[in-house]
Amino acid sequence: MVEDTMKYEKMLDRLYLSLPEQTKTKERFEMPEVHSHIQGSKTFIKNIQTVLKLVHRETPHFVKFITKELAVPVSVTKEGTIDITGKFSESKIRSLTENYVKQFVLCKECRKPDTKFIEMHGVKMLKCDACGAVTPLKQL
Ligand SMILES: [Zn+2]
Repeated sequence: MVEDTMKYEKMLDRLYLSLPEQTKTKERFEMPEVHSHIQGSKTFIKNIQTVLKLVHRETPHFVKFITKELAVPVSVTKEGTIDITGKFSESKIRSLTENYVKQFVLCKECRKPDTKFIEMHGVKMLKCDACGAVTPLKQL
């Protein structure tokens, strides 16, 4: 029995040693730069799909968030551009998007973006695939 345990431990040692050097994941999530522009009385966010794809979030959820934050009508064009009624600066749009990512994407524990929405007892929660943390989500 003792011998078996030792063998097992040796095996583990070997496994550990054979792991590649670079198993560490990136420390910080790099947010792509969001570009928006004002045209007439509207504001358009053209590259929002790049961001949403990267963080694995659905466009309608983001639209709901931005509608609530800005309190104006928001729609999505066929091409996936966000179409906001009203004039908003690019810096405002950027900080809104950053807030969205902070609230609905980044893990509250390890700050990694590898998260998804789950439902626990009828309540939406944020589950992190990197560290396993489950934290409450703000209701939209
Ligand atoms: Zn985490």
